[in-house]
Amino acid sequence: MKPEKKEEKRLKKEKKAKNREFVIIAYMFAALFVALSAYFCYFLTFKSDDFINSSYNPRLNSLQTANIRGDIITSDGETVATTLTFGPIEKRSYPKGREYCHAVGYAINGMSGVEKEASFRMVRSHDFIIRRLYNDITDQKNRGDTAVLTINSKLQDAAYDAMDDYQGAVIALDPDTGKVLCMVSQPTFDPNTLADDWDSIVSDETSSVLLNRATQGKYPPGSTFKIVTALEYLNEGGKADAPYNCEGEFSFESTTIHCYKGKVHGEQNFTNAFANSCNSAFAEIGLNLDVKQYGKLCDRLLFNKKLPTKIADAGKSSFVLSKDDNSSMLMQTAIGQGDTLVTPLHMAMIASAIANDGTLYKPYTLDKIQSPGGAIVMPYFKSRYGDIMSKEEAGNLKWLMRSVVTDGTGSALMTDKYDAYGKTGTAEFSSNKDEAHSWFVGFAEKDGKKIAIAVVMEGAGSGSAHAVPLAKSVFDAYFE
Ligand SMILES: [Zn+2]
Repeated sequence: MKPEKKEEKRLKKEKKAKNREFVIIAYMFAALFVALSAYFCYFLTFKSDDFINSSYNPRLNSLQTANIRGDIITSDGETVATTLTFGPIEKRSYPKGREYCHAVGYAINGMSGVEKEASFRMVRSHDFIIRRLYNDITDQKNRGDTAVLTINSKLQDAAYDAMDDYQGAVIALDPDTGKVLCMVSQPTFDPNTLADDWDSIVSDETSSVLLNRATQGKYPPGSTFKIVTALEYLNEGGKADAPYNCEGEFSFESTTIHCYKGKVHGEQNFTNAFANSCNSAFAEIGLNLDVKQYGKLCDRLLFNKKLPTKIADAGKSSFVLSKDDNSSMLMQTAIGQGDTLVTPLHMAMIASAIANDGTLYKPYTLDKIQSPGGAIVMPYFKSRYGDIMSKEEAGNLKWLMRSVVTDGTGSALMTDKYDAYGKTGTAEFSSNKDEAHSWFVGFAEKDGKKIAIAVVMEGAGSGSAHAVPLAKSVFDAYFE
């Protein structure tokens, strides 16, 4: 080979190597760009509100010196939080006191509830521009924007009044949107005196009043869990009209399961057993279920995972049955008395999906931000999670839950004002069989308008005696 040719080849090789370097560097930059963009999107979607609403954000403080923290109102215009001014002194005031304490939250000590979620929005102002100019010239503060809840005051009043002095929770959802229509948790705190009461509240470990039991309380589901057991039974080929003879109790190996207060339900089919909440029938059904499939169904129904909701700090429900568990645990789990724990919010979400042909919308409590004059500044839209069950599954459960109202333990919900569906529960939580939480999980509909609900009243006793009448008060208020 001639020397020039050799040189030419060497140069070509060098050029090729350099090109490769360029390509590698270009790819690296592209990858970096993609990673940064992805983080930016993640930040905007998931983290920016946390950052903006953080009490450590200096921008929040500077806005607070220019604007007076705005109001929080219900979807029907009742003021539930406002800022009173006494000269230069501002005081957060809660005209409805304890009734909304968990939904609205507090604006001190790290904040909670909508006070936290909408904090940044409420210290900004989109008040009428001339008024803001005037305030600027006269050195006065602007009125901050208003946070509008999805909660309706009539439903909240109905739930709060019916809850009486019981501890527990009520939460109702609009199945078509995920809007929280009412949310009550008891015991309550007085948000007007929280700053003074703070030390005694946090040091009292027995009552945990700051805990929002509707979204964070974990309860044994009792017979409301038969909704899940029934679905698994049907999915494994069980028949709605399969016969069962209840003798008031069912025994296997060393375990005996009793029907509530020893009631003998006699000859019945599976649908009747669901309507009557027959423990004997469901304990026997539980023994024959495929534990792996049962667990898979619970996964699909959002057990053991973070719930898809915009409500901060919502708790996880747990279902921990394994194939190594003994027959006693299987029977207990099938009737909702095993180690299963649920939050009222989660049960309301399951009811909501059943009402909605299987489709679940993410629950939320903040509907929109508006200017002090009422112009919409920022609307929050419904967000679809997906189908947690098929239309057919939802239809089967609807049928069973209707039988509870027409022929079973929920008959107090029979009315011509709406069609109600549900499942009662009496969840034992101690060795004393007389101590039980009263549960109701269900929904009601009329002319396309729907509402789903979960009610738990701690230590109140039977579901039909307490939780059902409470659900009825809320349904009545909704369809009035
Ligand atoms: Zn029975």
